[in-house]
Amino acid sequence: MTTVEELKLRVRELENELIKSKQKQSDAEHHLRPKIVKMSAEVVDSNPYSRLMALKRMGIVQDYEKIRSYAVAVVGVGGVGSVTAEMLTRCGIGKLLLFDYDKVELANMNRLFFQPHQAGLSKVEAAEHTLRNINPDVAFETHNYNITTMDNFTHFMDRISHGGLEEGKPVDLVLSCVDNFEARMAINTACNELAQIWMESGVSENAVSGHIQLIIPGETACFACAPPLVVAANIDEKTLKRDGVCAASLPTTMGVVAGLLVQNVLKYLLGFGTVSYYLGYNAMQDFFPSMAMKANPQCDDRHCRRQQDEYKKKEAERPKQEVVQEEEEEVVHEDNEWGIELVSEVSEAELRDASGPVPDLPEGITVAYTIPEKDGGSGETVEETDQSLEELMAQMKKM
Ligand SMILES: [Zn+2]
Repeated sequence: MTTVEELKLRVRELENELIKSKQKQSDAEHHLRPKIVKMSAEVVDSNPYSRLMALKRMGIVQDYEKIRSYAVAVVGVGGVGSVTAEMLTRCGIGKLLLFDYDKVELANMNRLFFQPHQAGLSKVEAAEHTLRNINPDVAFETHNYNITTMDNFTHFMDRISHGGLEEGKPVDLVLSCVDNFEARMAINTACNELAQIWMESGVSENAVSGHIQLIIPGETACFACAPPLVVAANIDEKTLKRDGVCAASLPTTMGVVAGLLVQNVLKYLLGFGTVSYYLGYNAMQDFFPSMAMKANPQCDDRHCRRQQDEYKKKEAERPKQEVVQEEEEEVVHEDNEWGIELVSEVSEAELRDASGPVPDLPEGITVAYTIPEKDGGSGETVEETDQSLEELMAQMKKM
């Protein structure tokens, strides 16, 4: 006997088949533009790269064509990841590797990129189709799986280390656009082991703040070095975090965060401007706090500690050169000129009582949680340390 539910499911499956075959047909009809072998700066309406190549004439970028030699992995093709992938595609990145296990849902339509007719398709499949249409010069590799399961994680590591533009070479950058702690930790673990530079991004559950972060294993704080940094907002979190209440999202906040992320990707890959270590976005006050944080020698991740040793060795071997460095401006300002006051999610008393490493935080940035004092026999497995909190904080001090 067939139930209504089964029939509904079958209808859904057939609809998906129909969408796929329609897409194939439309590909054949609206044939993709021919590939462009060499990026040209020629100013003609038919050149998709003329405005990008103009960055050279304007003196911003020295060698824009270099973008074609880079491979970037985007993990999570949701509200931030899809827009990130689209921007990189339009900029003419050499190769994109997309990882996501989710399907497009109508509930995603408050965000950018995906369209209602793609509902039911896997996000990576739908994204590849759209992106290839936008720019067929980009090479795409998609993986429709959850990177946190054991087998997939191994495969993920393999693709990060071998899926570069030239097969066998590592990718140039990994971008975390995921929405959960577990997946971030998986990316962190993989990148620490492989010494792979990556950028993390995030948007808060109340949709009004976000951040991006550059992680250079061994040099800057990894995701396990300290509790994740979050942007402080003037909102009582307790009113939001109830069971059964789904996370809010806005296309605006996600678009801003994706824009900040890709801006930093371009600066990092093409070597212009300053790449932000940590840049927050508080949408309520239009406030952009920034900071940098060194790796924590007591990090739980052994590969992070190993990379720190490698980094120290490299630094020691580097010929000393006189660097005239401008004194970095302190970002801490009790009374800023706009009179903005931000309330931390973690109170100052809580920060003082924390036994774990707490970085020196500028205004507007706090941590997602602190590690509680381990007396009372809670069986915490936090490693014993001889260092005082002050010493730890000194180590974690702003770079
Ligand atoms: Zn670490």
